[in-house]
Amino acid sequence: MKNNFPTNPCLFCNSINYKKTFEYNNRPQGEINFHNTTHYFREIFQCQVCFHYISVHNMDLSNLYSGQYVDSTYSGQEGLKKTFDRIIALAADKSDNYGRVKSINDFAFNFFENKKNHTILDIGSGLGVFPYAMQKLNWECTALDPDPRACEHLKNTVGVKSICADFLKAEDIGQYDCISLNKVLEHVDNPIKMLSKVKKYLKPKGLIYIEVPDGEQSELDGKDREEFFIDHLHIFSLTSLCLLAKKSDLTLLNLERLKEPSSKYTLRAFLTHHGSGKHT
Ligand SMILES: [Zn+2]
Repeated sequence: MKNNFPTNPCLFCNSINYKKTFEYNNRPQGEINFHNTTHYFREIFQCQVCFHYISVHNMDLSNLYSGQYVDSTYSGQEGLKKTFDRIIALAADKSDNYGRVKSINDFAFNFFENKKNHTILDIGSGLGVFPYAMQKLNWECTALDPDPRACEHLKNTVGVKSICADFLKAEDIGQYDCISLNKVLEHVDNPIKMLSKVKKYLKPKGLIYIEVPDGEQSELDGKDREEFFIDHLHIFSLTSLCLLAKKSDLTLLNLERLKEPSSKYTLRAFLTHHGSGKHT
């Protein structure tokens, strides 16, 4: 099979030294059938300097986030509600969301001098299990999602304020004490551009929380791990996540590597913006 070795330098370290990690000639089990082609071919390459992974293929995924995502992932509006109900009913030790909420709430308690109810913008809320749980802990939540059905669900079932928009095109969406991106940056072309834009909506001395798939741990378990599925353009390493913070002119406060109750390998980071230095 042909190789499509990337010709663009690594977004994070500018190297052009890549190694092919995995090749797929069939859709791996569990991956959603997004593409409209009978011939499946995809490769994962890893930067040999910062160990970041990228997914490379020529299949058409133009419908990925235009409604088909909600249809394929959750079987539409009813499916959203069912999945939401199932996840919020999970016991603490079975729930990725429980650990995420606890982690942010604990970190924020130490980070913010003021102990008032803080505002949080959650970018890419989807099902809304995260803003739902944060709201229960008295955070003032705003959930942003590009899918109109997800937004309806957020408003009607979850009961959180929602903004229906593509964050990269959104403007004037307010200023927040905290902004979270849970499993979002791996889906966008340029995570640096996105995170740089996040700063605009962060109040001074605000907190950014991000979660991304951990490629280095996932690779050890083999090519069929969901971290390498087709909807992830980027799969991070500890180093590439640090470089992402630096290139976005953010200060990394904490970085954690974990295996979540769902078995996902995840990197979790807290960042802030000191407002000094060069803005990108
Ligand atoms: Zn690199």
